[in-house]
Amino acid sequence: MVVRAGREFLAIPGPTTMPDEVLRAMHRPALDIYSEQMVALTASLLADLSRLFGTTAQSYIYIANGHGAWEATLTNVLSRGDKILVLESGRFAVGWGQVARDMGVDVEGLKGDWRRAIRPAEVEARLRADTAHEIKAVLAVQVDTASGAYNDIEAIGRAIKAAGHPALFMVDAVASLACMPFEMDAWGIDVAMSGSQKGLMAPPGLGFVVANDRAQKVHQTAGLRTPYWDWTARGGPEHYNKYSGTAPVHLLFAQREALNMLFDEKLPNVFRRHQLLAEAVRRAVAAWSEGGVLAFNIEEPAERSNTVTTVTMADPAPLLAYCKNNCGVILGVGIGDLSGQAFRIAHMGHVNAPMILGTLGVIEMALQALGIPHGKGGVTAAINYLGESVRA
Ligand SMILES: *Cc1c(COP(=O)(O)O)cnc(C)c1O
Repeated sequence: MVVRAGREFLAIPGPTTMPDEVLRAMHRPALDIYSEQMVALTASLLADLSRLFGTTAQSYIYIANGHGAWEATLTNVLSRGDKILVLESGRFAVGWGQVARDMGVDVEGLKGDWRRAIRPAEVEARLRADTAHEIKAVLAVQVDTASGAYNDIEAIGRAIKAAGHPALFMVDAVASLACMPFEMDAWGIDVAMSGSQKGLMAPPGLGFVVANDRAQKVHQTAGLRTPYWDWTARGGPEHYNKYSGTAPVHLLFAQREALNMLFDEKLPNVFRRHQLLAEAVRRAVAAWSEGGVLAFNIEEPAERSNTVTTVTMADPAPLLAYCKNNCGVILGVGIGDLSGQAFRIAHMGHVNAPMILGTLGVIEMALQALGIPHGKGGVTAAINYLGESVRA
């Protein structure tokens, strides 16, 4: 017997659910890519992306996913043989570093742990030890989408500053931008990147990069530059220079609408909504964990992300299959070191109370139907938290 019908509900950390307004914004003819309307659309997006990243620095829009934006950040500031430091906290900064290694960059990992966030003091100690300033850049993610760790980017920026080290600070905000605060300028970040399909509520296909003056200076002599990703080429006078070719017209309309929606809601409210719904998820997981089978992957509560929760369990396959096949809810699978040992509940982007409570209800139903030992009342705990926190 199944109780699924109609749309499947995606509770995976990207691509995320797109608002109907965003879908509708794409249902239109293409524009002349040389038209005033097109030029204005690009200008408005570049300005608003910089605003979203918390910077006055220049932003760039690539027709690419996050992996492409990673390559854009690296090729523009690094040369073959340069040394960089990758701050590990799960899968994603390591993956970014791997792209650099494949391009001939000397990559050192600052050993982390899949169960915790980056320790800023360890970053400071490593940079202080680099008295010759061989490290050219420090790479970190704000949220590691695999482990569910939330890294305190502001504190890491302070640690780099405290070490008096000139390395560029480069941050991946793919699983966090537009879901939680990001202050590029105030936090001492030189290069940041993100993508359209997670917190930004648009289709996959746009990669965003911002680079400040320090990064632009290093860019002048970077040896890995290639024509498509190149910041200087994209600064050319023609509109098509901005995309190194044809503009991704419909994706831009979608992203424009999604940004309008975020700004209409107001960013502090967007961040608060994410915090409330994430905490509701955590209340449910905490209750279920009492059964001794499920557990939070991230041990320290303050290091758990407001965009994705990674839950460890011995054999998640039946639970994932039940949620999908019987209820039409797609949960995230465990990836990397947690492959086959975890599931992930995404709560990023276009999420609201019925989506989150519905997802939690389906998971609790699956635990019951499959006879998986769990503490009762996870959904009730989530409701109690929201009922107390979201006042009339
Ligand atoms: C999803 C994700 C990426 C990769 O993005 P793709 O669009 O899948 O290439 C990079 N970093 C983080 C933190 C992510 O969550």
